[in-house]
Amino acid sequence: MFPWCVSRGSNLVKVNPVKRLKIFVVAFTLLLSALSYASSGANQTASRVWITDVFIVSPERLDRVEKGSVLIENGRIARVERNRKAKKPADAVVVEGKGQYLIPGLIDSHVHLASVPGMTFEQEAGKQAMVAEYFRQLPRSYLYYGYTTLVDLAVVQPRVLEDFRAAAAHPDLYDCGESLPWANGYPMNFLPAEMRFKVFPNFLYDAKQAEKIPAEYKAEDHTPAADVARVKSEGGICVKTYFERGFADDKNLPVMDAGTAAEIRKAATKDGLVLMMHANGFEAQKFAVDANVDVIAHGMWHWGALDKEKEVPEEIKQLLDRIAEKKVGYQPTMQVLSGEMAYFDPEYLKNPAVAKVVPKAMVEWFGTPEGKWFGKELNEDKTPDATLRELYERGPMRRVRQVTAYLASKDANIVFGTDTPSGPTYGNLPGLNGYLEMKQLEKAGLSLAQIFKAATISNAREFKMESQVGTIEPGKVANLVLMTKSPLESVDAYDSITTVLVHGKAIARKNLAADSEK
Ligand SMILES: [Zn+2]
Repeated sequence: MFPWCVSRGSNLVKVNPVKRLKIFVVAFTLLLSALSYASSGANQTASRVWITDVFIVSPERLDRVEKGSVLIENGRIARVERNRKAKKPADAVVVEGKGQYLIPGLIDSHVHLASVPGMTFEQEAGKQAMVAEYFRQLPRSYLYYGYTTLVDLAVVQPRVLEDFRAAAAHPDLYDCGESLPWANGYPMNFLPAEMRFKVFPNFLYDAKQAEKIPAEYKAEDHTPAADVARVKSEGGICVKTYFERGFADDKNLPVMDAGTAAEIRKAATKDGLVLMMHANGFEAQKFAVDANVDVIAHGMWHWGALDKEKEVPEEIKQLLDRIAEKKVGYQPTMQVLSGEMAYFDPEYLKNPAVAKVVPKAMVEWFGTPEGKWFGKELNEDKTPDATLRELYERGPMRRVRQVTAYLASKDANIVFGTDTPSGPTYGNLPGLNGYLEMKQLEKAGLSLAQIFKAATISNAREFKMESQVGTIEPGKVANLVLMTKSPLESVDAYDSITTVLVHGKAIARKNLAADSEK
């Protein structure tokens, strides 16, 4: 757990980096040896499954939401019958879909699986059994909310991803390999100088900072082309880089220049990788668009000098128009801010959904004074909860909502990503965070069809998985979700899931919960 991606954007945030660094140094080595969650078996596949009498809701055919049946063979969709009277094939195991809706499995294209929500490294090292239980539950929590495909944006502990993929039931997992931060820039700045290059070995060399880069790292090994090639050779499907000048106590971080961005673009194109850039402000997103990135990995909650403007300013609209026209993938990640606000919401931990996605012992620990450490850091001035919530709402939350609404009105290419967890907050829990992000998107003004497409076909297209997932069509992997409400009628549908199919294997939702008997 460390804010690899931390996008803690609001200037309300008060972080104490010195304390954080100390925690990191103490705990990092311990953690590496502690992480071991053996599990066996891959996702198993029933040979023939017939899902019948169900409303088929597939994003490429929203004009034809009809009752029908779907045949699965060997983990793939073999037939889609939009016809009530289709006959059950011999030998097929029947899944009765009466009164239910069938959708493609959901895709979250922005997660950080190795980060434990709400905990410092020191705390993780001291609670190994609890953390191990959290990691065992992790793949099930994503499935519990219908997520059958994930993209991890910055691999820092490959072992966690390996264990995730080895779990008995787990979403399909892709990653961007090791990310490409600018030397000594974000998020390397969170680590002590002597550690940051070891933790971010795929950093980009900056000749101007040669004296601040350990001599063992050679410029020629850290060019955009070399870094991108490493991601490719590690099996990554995307490249993650950053444009972030910093926030809170660290506001003048070095950032890459346009020439470097152009070289990354060229290398990513050559290697067939999706280029993603962390950018959460007006300046950064303009840089990202000028650099022709494929995906902007955050919403725009900073407007710079325009922060106080009541409506989206004209110059920002012009940039958003370009984002919409160029079909740049856009992840609003509104739960980043909302996840911080969780500490100032006395009801948050009482939500029964929390106990479905993290082990009971961890929920209880979150409720202790020690478990609320991050909330205290965020609010060193002890501002009343209601006042803080109001400040978030009126500031960064309002701005990101207005920008997202504008993009939605232009039918921009919004791709669903949650950034779970975006920082050391207990407000971004696996699976549940996706459901909450959908509610945020709806509140911002996306239609239910836009939300549905963002989490299915748009993500599949953007990440070049369209031949495998994202719709209910013959030939695709049978990653499917059954729910009792229509996702085109209410966002609550995403919490009405009864069954999740992973490569054709049906799993009852209740058996995926952290508090289930199984
Ligand atoms: Zn992230």
